[in-house]
Amino acid sequence: MKRTTKYIFVTGGVTSSLGKGIIAASLAKLLQAQGYRVTIQKLDPYINVDPGTLNPYEHGECYVTNDGAETDLDLGHYERFLNVPTSQANNVTTGKIYQSVIEKERRGEFLGKTVQVIPHITNEIKERIQILGNSGDFDIVITEIGGTVGDIESLPYIEAVRQLKWDLGEHNVIVVHLTLIPYLSAAGELKTKPTQHSVKTLMESGVQADVLVCRTEHEIGDGIRTKLARFCNVQKEAVIQSIDASTIYDVPNMMLEEGLDKVVLKKLGLKSSTPDLTSWNEFLSRHKNPKSEVTIGLIGKYVELQDSYKSILESFIHAGAVNEVKVKVESVHSEYLNKDNIKEKLSHLDGALVAPGFGERGIEGKIEAVRYVRENNIPFLGICLGMQMAVIEYARNVLGLEGANSTEMDKNTSYPVIYLMEEQKAITNKGGTMRLGAWDCKLKEDTIVSQVYNKINIEERHRHRYEYNNTYKAQLEAAGMKATGLNPETGLVEIIEIPKHPWFIGVQYHPEYKSTVSNPHPLFVAFIKAALKHSLKKNSVSMT
Ligand code: GLN
Repeated sequence: MKRTTKYIFVTGGVTSSLGKGIIAASLAKLLQAQGYRVTIQKLDPYINVDPGTLNPYEHGECYVTNDGAETDLDLGHYERFLNVPTSQANNVTTGKIYQSVIEKERRGEFLGKTVQVIPHITNEIKERIQILGNSGDFDIVITEIGGTVGDIESLPYIEAVRQLKWDLGEHNVIVVHLTLIPYLSAAGELKTKPTQHSVKTLMESGVQADVLVCRTEHEIGDGIRTKLARFCNVQKEAVIQSIDASTIYDVPNMMLEEGLDKVVLKKLGLKSSTPDLTSWNEFLSRHKNPKSEVTIGLIGKYVELQDSYKSILESFIHAGAVNEVKVKVESVHSEYLNKDNIKEKLSHLDGALVAPGFGERGIEGKIEAVRYVRENNIPFLGICLGMQMAVIEYARNVLGLEGANSTEMDKNTSYPVIYLMEEQKAITNKGGTMRLGAWDCKLKEDTIVSQVYNKINIEERHRHRYEYNNTYKAQLEAAGMKATGLNPETGLVEIIEIPKHPWFIGVQYHPEYKSTVSNPHPLFVAFIKAALKHSLKKNSVSMT
């Protein structure tokens, strides 16, 4: 018998940034660990078609799926927690919804009807929600609705949830509302009123929250639980505390302790059992009990923003746990790096990661950083723009090609070692037009990367326009920078390494998008291992 897919909606109240994505991912983890097939979807109420054209200052990192969707960074959390790939269907924005409805209208699909928010926009939203459910691949679909209830732009989504409760039946759809319980230090009290108001706002749209997850800095006592249950029309067992955690990876256990999974499964009419979190807890224990520490410089131009390099930072946590090492990440702003301060900023590092990025700002600092770590044998990992910078640095300082550059930064450079391929030249639109998603890559044997991956054929995710210019390949290789991973169809260079250096690798793709708790990325694992080796060597030298 085909099991009906169940739908869980996660909404937010009072304020944004309460961590809906982490709650959704933690709940999903607990359900997955009880044998349910779960996926998570994010609905974003903004009008951009996807976050691909958004500045990291606005939106944080743009995450990329195997099938080439440029998505919200919460999808990264979903994959890292569940170890199940997401896809185009897992992130829907208002822009996408309207684009699709307007295209249908132009094709005449609405047969002369007036096209309206209800039913046309809400139908489109309901369809998008059910694509994953109808695929037959999942028992439970968790849909996180971005923004906060009461926002004008969230209204069609909340209305779609209200309708789905009727369409699919109450036992098949529940709403988990995440809210804030602020602590007023002057009064020395936790306050429930904002939560009462946000639950009421949800009710004005005809949606009753089934479960309340309360973000709080202090324990909420029995009195507050009783009060919230009474005022917000939920059972007391459905009032769940979510207190600040020292790591996001603690949240599944915290939710387990609070019984979030039990209450959710009961409401959906599904069986609950004890989730098997053995490997998760092994990871946590290694993460929390490191035997040594390494310092990695993250060299980029968005370093002041925690969210801009989210997947890279999380990959360090996964790789640190494997190596039982605490990875201390030091942000190094590439714009302020120059010949005069480079030693002071980088000499103490055990490894340097030059980050992905777009545009000219900060690139000379990145090139200077690559030169320093190359000449001083500090382990290096360059990702996307970081790999391109490594090629430029080598061309300039080893091959002596003065002014070598990427045509992204200098259209008229005499040595375009990184350039735009013909098919990209004709493209003028910015949205969704990069080389995106998973591409095959074949590794050369007897290279560092073939050892790191322990196989020859790999698949990694891309997000870039510019490429390594094969015209310079013979010259670069002869001078010691080897192309060790190629796209088997196009011959595009995806990986470079310098065999003479202890550990120097640049990759045109983004390994960070594929690192998960149960499957830490081998490149990050090997990079941290190399950093550890460097640090031990450094210390033994300083002891002698
Ligand atoms: N700006 C570079 C390109 O488009 C690198 C992009 C990136 O680092 N993601 O090729």
